[in-house]
Amino acid sequence: MTDYDVIVIGCGPAGMMACGELAKRGIKVLGVDKKPQLDVNIRTASGYCFLDQPFNKEWIKCTPQGDKTLLEYTDTGFSVNYSGHMEGIHNSHMFSDTGRHWQAKTRVKPFYHTFLPSKCHSDRFAWASAQGAQFMTGTSFINCSQTDKSVEILVRKDGKNKTLTCKKLIAADGLVSRVAKVTGVNANRLNFNMKGPTIEYEMDGVEMPYDRGDAFFFGSKNFGGMAGGVIMVPSPHGPKCYRAETMSVLPASTSTDIIEYFIKKSPFASWFKNIEILEISGVIVEFFGPLNVPQLGNILYVGDSAAYGECLYQCATMCGYKGAECVEMELKGQKGYDEYCEWWADHFEWVRNPKRMADYTKRVLFPRFFTVQELDFLFDLSEKNPIVVDEVEATPYTFTQMVMEQFMAMPEVPEKLKERMQFIIDADMSKVMQVVGQVQKS
Ligand SMILES: Cc1cc2nc3c(=O)[nH]c(=O)nc-3n(C[C@H](O)[C@H](O)[C@H](O)COP(=O)(O)OP(=O)(O)OC[C@H]3O[C@@H](n4cnc5c(N)ncnc54)[C@H](O)[C@@H]3O)c2cc1C
Repeated sequence: MTDYDVIVIGCGPAGMMACGELAKRGIKVLGVDKKPQLDVNIRTASGYCFLDQPFNKEWIKCTPQGDKTLLEYTDTGFSVNYSGHMEGIHNSHMFSDTGRHWQAKTRVKPFYHTFLPSKCHSDRFAWASAQGAQFMTGTSFINCSQTDKSVEILVRKDGKNKTLTCKKLIAADGLVSRVAKVTGVNANRLNFNMKGPTIEYEMDGVEMPYDRGDAFFFGSKNFGGMAGGVIMVPSPHGPKCYRAETMSVLPASTSTDIIEYFIKKSPFASWFKNIEILEISGVIVEFFGPLNVPQLGNILYVGDSAAYGECLYQCATMCGYKGAECVEMELKGQKGYDEYCEWWADHFEWVRNPKRMADYTKRVLFPRFFTVQELDFLFDLSEKNPIVVDEVEATPYTFTQMVMEQFMAMPEVPEKLKERMQFIIDADMSKVMQVVGQVQKS
């Protein structure tokens, strides 16, 4: 006899969906999270999502319903409600070290939509609680051990250790998963040694003198000589509201230094002179290759705990749903874990095709393949040859190729630069890592 049928470690987008779906199916489930409150966001996330287009072998149909939104996962077969409207974003900007500007625009279909991460958490928490899921907050997972029939979990709450038991454990504790670490499944994952902090400010009152859209700023001049970047994404909180997050290196304080310099002293500081900061969030990220088989005995690893980088909220949610469905099958003596592992490999392209990790990463790293002068030359050319299309596939996997192909199509671009762009399009993870660091087995 165990305390619970299922314990879920981590109640972010993946874990919360799993808790609610299991409870809805009448399964006794406990969600454990170190956060004291589950309906707020404290972890940086810009809030973009890819709807009404293929992404990770899913097509999420978005239907606005007044001031709410219905999201239907047409491949995995479920739907969720979001209690706000999602904003379609039609413009993408980049600004170089010297302030040169690049822009792409879609006339009809947005590049992507944005949502409020906090609203997502509170919606999912309210829904999961209504289904009867139980939660233990302010509680850290420490360790676990398993037999063929059960899992024993050691957690720590208010300075005291406690043991809990369950038949099945779902690890949904995110990117630097402790469950993955202590159960030894990280041993065969690639460790990209990419570890960095980020701070995000959600700000109202931003005077952005360009078409509303996202903006990527790079080059040390914009950050007072510090290495880093800032990505700013419109927030659906209001027409002058944006979320700006840093790409920074350790120590963690550099992320605050970068964002503070950027909004107060950089050449773009005038955009921020009347801002009100609505939310501050942060996180330290670390990148591993994916778990090809996200399961060990009675433990299933879902969402970012098993991913390369990030699943994003939308796909972490579908991992939570699919995880719950497959764990229920296991509890009934069916081969649910085999089904989950196949679904995982089918949906997340980097499981079977490692180059997709590189394609995903190039979205934020490709400027590093060029000198400041080369980027300025290309950005000046793109002002003369703007990208304006009705619609384009520009997910993180495809964005860099889209930009490179636009540059390559310009007759003024010399052959040598075109070869570099083809090199960037073709680059696998080892080539990307030559630019940013080294790869090793963890
Ligand atoms: C800088 C940045 C920007 C991003 N921007 C976006 C974006 O625009 N759109 C988007 O969709 N996604 C974005 N993401 C990615 C997104 O945040 C993740 O993919 C998503 O949150 C993964 O969900 P998850 O449930 O798997 O893990 P997480 O959201 O990481 O949730 C893990 C949960 O486990 C808990 N936990 C961790 N360790 C323990 C422990 N030992 N004991 C108990 N609890 C524990 C945590 O408190 C947390 O609640 C961004 C991520 C970063 C870092």
